Amino acid sequence: MLFTPLGDKSVRCDLCARRCRIQVGKTGFCRVRKNLDGTLYSLNYAKAVAANADPMEKKPLYHFLPRRTTYSIATVGCNLACSYCLNWSISQEEEIVGRNLPPERVVQEALSLGCSAVSYTYTEPTIFFEWAFDTSRLAHGRGLKNTFVTNGYMTPEAVGAIAPHLDAATVDFKGNANAEFYRKFAQAPSVDPIFESLKEMKAKKIHLEVTDLVVPKYGDSLDDARKLAAWIVDNLGPETPFHVLRFHPDYKLLDLPSTPIEAIERTLRVAKEEGLRYVYGGNVPGHSAENTYCPHCGELLIERWGFSVVKWNVTEGKTCPECGARIPIVDK
Ligand code: SF4
Repeated sequence: MLFTPLGDKSVRCDLCARRCRIQVGKTGFCRVRKNLDGTLYSLNYAKAVAANADPMEKKPLYHFLPRRTTYSIATVGCNLACSYCLNWSISQEEEIVGRNLPPERVVQEALSLGCSAVSYTYTEPTIFFEWAFDTSRLAHGRGLKNTFVTNGYMTPEAVGAIAPHLDAATVDFKGNANAEFYRKFAQAPSVDPIFESLKEMKAKKIHLEVTDLVVPKYGDSLDDARKLAAWIVDNLGPETPFHVLRFHPDYKLLDLPSTPIEAIERTLRVAKEEGLRYVYGGNVPGHSAENTYCPHCGELLIERWGFSVVKWNVTEGKTCPECGARIPIVDK
C-alpha cells in the first residue's frame, strides 16, 4: 500500500514521512519494505515478533477503555533508529523473523483472551501497516477497538487510510520534541510530520494521548516542554492526556542516568501551567503523578500503581463524584 512508481522501476514509499526512494532489489530505511521489480512489498506482513494481552494503561492510554486489556502485536523494523530504544532487539532487527499470525488469528486470539481491543505497538505500526490495516478492519467487524502506539512519523495518506479503523492512538514524542534531539538520537530529519499527523488524527476524531520521553542532558529542556504543551493545548485541546515518561538507559545510551524524578515533576508542572488538565508521570510506579485528579476540585478519581488501576472513583456517568465535573473518558 501507499507507494508511487517513479520510472526506472524505482518507487517512492509514501507510508512514512521519510518517503524513501527505493531502487529495484533494495529496501527502505525500515528494512521491511522492498522494491521487487518496480512494486513495493511489505516483507513483514503477519510476521509477529510479539503478541500479548496487555493492560490498556500500558500503552499508555489512561482515558480510553480503562481497566480493559488489549491484544498487543508487533513485527520487526522501525522507521526511526533511536539510540535509547527499549525494544531495540526487535525494532532494529535486520532479519525478518516472527511467527505467522494472519489477521484472523490475531482477532481470534484477542477475543479468546477477553481483550477489548487490538493494539499495534512495541515497534512502529506504520511500518507493518498492511497487517495492521487488514487486522483492524476485521477487529472492528468483531466488536474490537484498535489503537496505535506510534512515533507519529507518518504521511497524511497513511493517517487517512487507517483512520476509519483506528479508535485511539498514543503518539510518542522524544526529548520534549526538540528537533536537534530527533536528528541526533532518532535519526529523524524533522519533527514537523509528527505534529501534522496529530492534527490529522484529531480531525479524524481519533482519541489521542501524547507521551514525551524526557532524556537527561540531551532532551530535558523546560522551554521545549513548555512549547510542546502549549502546542497540544492549542491544537488538540487542554483535555488531551499528556504522559511525561522517565528515561532508563538502554541500547546505545547506557552511559546516561535515569531521568531524575524531579525533572519529571518539573516537566509536569510546566505542562499544567500551559493549561493541560490531565498530566501523568510514566515509568514512576507508586508516584502520585500516576493518578487522575479532578482538574476542578482536586478529588482523587483514579488511583494507579504502574499499569494497574487500584481505585476507581468516577461515577457511571463519567463525572467527578465530589463536584460533578465531566471527566473525559471513553469507555465503549
Ligand atoms: S515506511 Fe518509511 S522508512 Fe520504511 S520504506 Fe517507507 S518511507 Fe522508508
